[in-house]
Amino acid sequence: MIDAERQRGAGALNWAGNIAFSMGAPHRPESLDALRALIAEARHVRVLGSGHSFNAIADADGPDGTLISLSALPSSVEIDTAARTVRVAGGVRYAELATLLHERGMALANMASLPHISVAGSVATGTHGSGNANQPLSAAVRRVEMLTADGSPLTLDRGDDGFGGAVVALGALGVVTALTLDLEPGFEVSQQVFTALPFAGLDFEAVSGAAYSVSLFTDWRGPRFTQAWLKQRSDLPPVDFPHAAPATAQAHPMAGLPPENCTAQLGVFGPWHERLPHFRAGFTPSSGDELHSEYQLPRADAAEALRALDSLREALAPVVQICEVRTVAADTQWLSPSYGRDTVAFHFTWVPDAEAVLPVIALVEEHLAPYAPRPHWGKLFGITPAQLHERYPELPAFTSLAGELDPGAKFRNAFVRDILGG
Ligand SMILES: Cc1cc2nc3c(=O)[nH]c(=O)nc-3n(C[C@H](O)[C@H](O)[C@H](O)COP(=O)(O)OP(=O)(O)OC[C@H]3O[C@@H](n4cnc5c(N)ncnc54)[C@H](O)[C@@H]3O)c2cc1C
Repeated sequence: MIDAERQRGAGALNWAGNIAFSMGAPHRPESLDALRALIAEARHVRVLGSGHSFNAIADADGPDGTLISLSALPSSVEIDTAARTVRVAGGVRYAELATLLHERGMALANMASLPHISVAGSVATGTHGSGNANQPLSAAVRRVEMLTADGSPLTLDRGDDGFGGAVVALGALGVVTALTLDLEPGFEVSQQVFTALPFAGLDFEAVSGAAYSVSLFTDWRGPRFTQAWLKQRSDLPPVDFPHAAPATAQAHPMAGLPPENCTAQLGVFGPWHERLPHFRAGFTPSSGDELHSEYQLPRADAAEALRALDSLREALAPVVQICEVRTVAADTQWLSPSYGRDTVAFHFTWVPDAEAVLPVIALVEEHLAPYAPRPHWGKLFGITPAQLHERYPELPAFTSLAGELDPGAKFRNAFVRDILGG
């Protein structure tokens, strides 16, 4: 089971199995020279990270597309404890990075719900964890090293012109060979699950701000969150959560699934990387058989948006495995879904049945439209390019950066062309 989990997303299909890559399994160069040569010779290039996206964002389309995985390159991780930084190679996953950082007494500020995903692929799509004060994972990136269309190297540092487009870049600027991330000294986290939190009378600000990271889960089978997961750092005051009762046993967000796949709960402190993700490395995250969508909108609209979605409960319940509500602090990456606004993220884990799910995605988008939601780049959505342009004020700046760095549009696929043109 563990080996099968590691293989998912690494071949001719994405992790979810709903996307077959046009060119089949990716090329796996074993050296930077081989990678450079592949890029220089190819007409169209896309890089596949760990394949955890649910749409065709990573695909190399067209008859002359080249899909590349960096998984056979040396997976270097260089930690500088004095500077509090780490330089990670383009194919490294959070699971291996986090273990090495912990061994050296260092930590990342936050993690997504699973550590199985690659760092470069995650930050390229604006992947995030939760926390009113926690920015997306891309905010930790201080330097991007990439190979551009002719195979030549380019480095962009935080503060450089164009850096605002360089991290959440949808793979459209070049092949990221290394990222340098900010670190902090290691810390401990305790995780506690609370159950049955009614929507009625919910003080969203108080609940989402009750711990360092808060995730609220609902299956839409009633007007309540089934679980609230609170992750608190040991250097912050103990959690005071009068809104719901604490769980008395380890829990999975989805009823009936194995709680041992999840990181330790019940308020026991442990290392940051063994509590910030919901799911344990080496175990199947989530249900393992699913599709995802996610919409990010201003946190100030959270309560209203929740009411709008609650009015769809009858449509949602049959096709949702679980829905997770998290918060993300505003950041400065032009294409980040939380760009310039403190954000609430409504995430949907759907049943793996696109035909049943797509009409409900359309309903959700219609009901959330007043709040100008930005979709997660790695998940399923129907929001049009015109709407994306309205919702991302810096999209023209990104388009011009992409045109400057990649004038021949080598790194565009259908997904990117839809948004940027070219
Ligand atoms: C079970 C599950 C749970 C999830 N939980 C979360 C969550 O908690 N929070 C969240 O925000 N998202 C979550 N996601 C979504 C996931 O984080 C994103 O889809 C993310 O992009 C996955 O990273 P990846 O390496 O698999 O990227 P891929 O899907 O492989 O690629 C994504 C993009 O990155 C580009 N890319 C990858 N590597 C490089 C590189 N070296 N150079 C240039 N471009 C590159 C690709 O071309 C593509 O455009 C989850 C997904 C799954 C399956």
